[in-house]
Amino acid sequence: QEILLRVENLNKVFTIGSIFSRVRIRAVNNVNFEIGNSEIFTLAGESGSGKTTVAKIILGFLEPTSGKILYKGKDISELQKDRAKDLLRKEVQAVFQNPFETFNPLRRVSNYLMETVKNFGISERPEEVIESALNLVGLTWNEVKDKYPSEFSGGQLQRISIARSLLTNPTLLVADEPVSMVDASLRMSIVNLFKDLKEKRGVSVLYITHDLATAYYVSDRIAIMFRGEIVEIGSVEKVLMDPKHPYTMLLKESIPEPDPKKKWTKDIKILTLEEEEYQMKGCKFISRCPYRMEKCKNPVPDVEVDDRLVKCYLYT
Ligand code: SF4
Repeated sequence: QEILLRVENLNKVFTIGSIFSRVRIRAVNNVNFEIGNSEIFTLAGESGSGKTTVAKIILGFLEPTSGKILYKGKDISELQKDRAKDLLRKEVQAVFQNPFETFNPLRRVSNYLMETVKNFGISERPEEVIESALNLVGLTWNEVKDKYPSEFSGGQLQRISIARSLLTNPTLLVADEPVSMVDASLRMSIVNLFKDLKEKRGVSVLYITHDLATAYYVSDRIAIMFRGEIVEIGSVEKVLMDPKHPYTMLLKESIPEPDPKKKWTKDIKILTLEEEEYQMKGCKFISRCPYRMEKCKNPVPDVEVDDRLVKCYLYT
């Protein structure tokens, strides 16, 4: 499978606090992954794990502190600067969390779609372009054209927002928590759209979520993030059905009792403040890990275990 997007050694450091007490937070810490053509790749983790920061860097909303993102083999920061910018904006589209924020409540949804078509220079038969994008998400121009955002449900509006991102015929959709504001009963139908787009149009999707059920259903591969780092990455079957990292196990709420025959270190002095978790040079999950050992205070290597990478000393 050809690689569409490659994220290499990505780092983002934020400095927070006042001039008297500054704290540097490594929001994204040495993150590496790639997304293939026609692949749905998920970045999963709780809030504060760094997954949205990665998405913002890919979309050009934030600059990385260091590291590179290659899109079709070219450095995305270069593409964002020069004349390729317009093409990149067409090919890499975002789907945001809150569809009600995407649309101006005082304007008809159709105006917004028309404006997007105009902004991207799609001058030929704009209504047909919109109709076919709406059809892809199970809606029609007639159903949409005279209505205001408040006349739609959250699920319908998210469909329209996805249709908007399809107007430019994108190659990659970056979807940041696209179903978290949608009724639980409708979530699967929204993520199903991603599957359809992948299968029928060859679109790749970076799906960012904290919801492992939809992630399992929709993804080909998945990376689990914790405090800015990827702690486990591999096929969704391997990672979610047979997790190896204690944090992934915890996410699945299937963490087993520690083996009593092994010597577990219970008395390591551990800082548990979130800020300090970001600063640790060893394992950032140490304060919550039932398997922690003395050596976990050292920088943790990525280890290949059963066809996936796991950042954990249990497998060294
Ligand atoms: Fe637990 Fe150590 Fe693995 Fe971290 S490196 S998850 S503390 S066993």
